[in-house]
Amino acid sequence: GTIADAVGRQIEGAARGVSGLLFEPVIRLGVTGLSRAGKTVFITSLVANLLDRGRMPGLEAAQSGRIEAAYLQPQPDDTVPRFDFETHLAALTGPAPHWPESTRSVSELRLSLKVRPKGMLGGLSGLRTVHLDIVDYPGEWLLDLGLLEQDFAGWSAEALARAEKRPEAEAFRARLATIDPDAPLSEPQAAALARDWTAYLKDAREAGYSDCTPGRFLLPGDLEGSPVLTFAPLPPSQAPRGSLARECARRFEAYKAQVVKPFFRAHFARIDRQVVLVDVLGAIHAGPAALEDLRQAMTGILGAFRPGRSAFLSTLLGTRRVDRILFAATKADHLHHEQHDRLAAIMAALVAEARRRADFAGARTQAMAIAALRATVEERRSVDGVDLGLVRGILLDTGRQAALHPGDLPEDPAALLHPARSGAAQWLGGDYGVMRFAPAPLTLRPGEGPPHIRLDRAAQFLLGDRLG
Ligand code: GDP
Repeated sequence: GTIADAVGRQIEGAARGVSGLLFEPVIRLGVTGLSRAGKTVFITSLVANLLDRGRMPGLEAAQSGRIEAAYLQPQPDDTVPRFDFETHLAALTGPAPHWPESTRSVSELRLSLKVRPKGMLGGLSGLRTVHLDIVDYPGEWLLDLGLLEQDFAGWSAEALARAEKRPEAEAFRARLATIDPDAPLSEPQAAALARDWTAYLKDAREAGYSDCTPGRFLLPGDLEGSPVLTFAPLPPSQAPRGSLARECARRFEAYKAQVVKPFFRAHFARIDRQVVLVDVLGAIHAGPAALEDLRQAMTGILGAFRPGRSAFLSTLLGTRRVDRILFAATKADHLHHEQHDRLAAIMAALVAEARRRADFAGARTQAMAIAALRATVEERRSVDGVDLGLVRGILLDTGRQAALHPGDLPEDPAALLHPARSGAAQWLGGDYGVMRFAPAPLTLRPGEGPPHIRLDRAAQFLLGDRLG
């Protein structure tokens, strides 16, 4: 309840004060994105590259040699699962490299850095310790923030309207047609509806749609099978006492109060710096509807970063603010670098609307195209007389090397985001569909660049000023 929360906040505040006195600043870095966006790979690579500082030229503190030591430490939150760095790193760098298991829930990792302040010559006594607490959480959970301002009827109307148009929802619609929302609650019926709704959300995600609430239905963790996850949107009805409709509405409220709010209070509200990872290339490849849906989902997700808009959210999220947000289009190693600027421009355009509405309450923002782990090298080739920039990597399916061209991104993002307005849109035709690369063994030769793309620049934007 509220008293425990208040006490918790006070203790936390005091602890922060103490670490402040000891000059051990803490940066809480939130890493989010929809599932498969690249969170796990990003964190694993960021931490590995900070531990081994030779490959981060764009991070000033690393480049100038001011990071004297970097090491993992026990994290501050004892009840949050630890980000399983060692297992993920072993997957990526073992003898048969493979992609690690993706984010399923919230997790945390503390990396501590011993930094020599700028302008200070040698000597260990002046070293400062900066703790980087990385908090990994599914972007699906951020989408739930929108639910807090909706009631069951409002959410149902929107969710059903979206589902109406999607073939993935066919089974759910068929079941809904056989059900009377005002009939007395039957648990098996509620469970079947929830199951069909969950299956629909999963298929819609697979098909490239982003706006899939309630987010916890997709990644339930230990809430699986509990009443807070056993409801589904229903058409308007009388909802008499004891009916399916009445109970679904009650569970929707319980979901908001007992699942959504605690996450925002315990994790989200304490973040200083945030990176939002987005599989822009995947959405472009999935086509116009998926890209438009991603744009809307981004607007929803970003609502969480401007709590100023509502007194209610300000109360929930407190007064601390995220002061830097990086929007990173991931997996840029699928493209020759000549197309990276275009990818970054599309990333920026995707969040432009949310940005215009409120500049994220004063937070600095930036859009970038990155690859946390480069699985390809570049080459040029003349194909049918056309000079093409290709990327070469090992295909997961066949284990063989291939040099591929994913297609061309348009110079103007509007061609993708407003295809109707600007005429013919270009989509990633090309080889993109077969581009499932295996992680490259870390054997990039000198001259082939670091084993990531702009991960160092991302780190500079997110942390650089705090390592001064
Ligand atoms: P999460 O669900 O956000 O944790 O996503 P993951 O980090 O597990 O990434 C999902 C998948 O995207 C991985 O299994 C890889 O196939 C792919 N991926 C992620 N990062 C990169 C990258 O930097 N380069 C390439 N080529 N693929 C990536």
